Amino acid sequence: MKPVQRHLLSWYAKNGRASLPWRKTRDPYRILVSEFMLQQTQVDRVLPKYRAFVKRFPTVRALAAASLADVIREWRGLGYNSRALRLKRIAEAVVTRFDGAVPRDLEALRGLKGIGPYTAAALRAFAFECDDAAVDTNVGRVVQRLTRGAEEPQALVPRGRGHDWNSALMDFGATICTARAPKCAICPLKKVCLSFPIAPSDLQRERPKVKAVPFERTTRFARGRIIDRLRSLPAGRRVSLLALHRELALPGRSAKDVTILVEALARDGLVTVRKRQVALTD
Ligand code: SF4
Repeated sequence: MKPVQRHLLSWYAKNGRASLPWRKTRDPYRILVSEFMLQQTQVDRVLPKYRAFVKRFPTVRALAAASLADVIREWRGLGYNSRALRLKRIAEAVVTRFDGAVPRDLEALRGLKGIGPYTAAALRAFAFECDDAAVDTNVGRVVQRLTRGAEEPQALVPRGRGHDWNSALMDFGATICTARAPKCAICPLKKVCLSFPIAPSDLQRERPKVKAVPFERTTRFARGRIIDRLRSLPAGRRVSLLALHRELALPGRSAKDVTILVEALARDGLVTVRKRQVALTD
């Protein structure tokens, strides 16, 4: 084993979050649910939602058979509701095309709409214990810092240890080699890290050059508020576009803007609009 592999796996054995429910299971459906929830949402927020979700929809068949409105209601508190829609559509495709068994084969996984290269690799590593490198932004950053581009993430996966290795890199990126303030002084990999100690100019270079927009002005915020309002409607009830605009009073958004947002949500399949009346898709 390479020194970097040895050091990181030994750090993970002592400090890793191996007790997370999606780390303990090898059920591909549950891992799929966790991967969708963990996209853009912190572990602490995901934990209770994950437990409730898999209790309510314990199998891929249960999720496929549920109404979309119920799935979106269960997604409350996680944001990015289109993830719930994509997850449900994947469950339906797994039932119709694979008789309810999430495939292990990479091509079959990538053939499921909504599963990209990262999620396919994560499923293979976490559910089927394959040696795939699951490279998200955090993992990519850690590997880049460690090797300064000299090694591909896949080349670092120790044979037969894909599950632990990917888990270790994720935990390490979330706690030690963080984006803004890497803890180089106490880093267990400092002896093998080609960036140690990381230079301020390197951190500056890594920072995305996008101008921050206040969260309340983002499309994400507006879409989330609309879905939250629709979630709170009693079953079978609808709300007019005009009432939505008045009730939500979204900063900087006119009635026309709200209509455009609702139409986009309808195109995504999350809501339906009939005679200018809106509800979650059933
Ligand atoms: S020494 Fe610093 S940059 Fe290198 S892996 Fe550790 S925390 Fe990251």
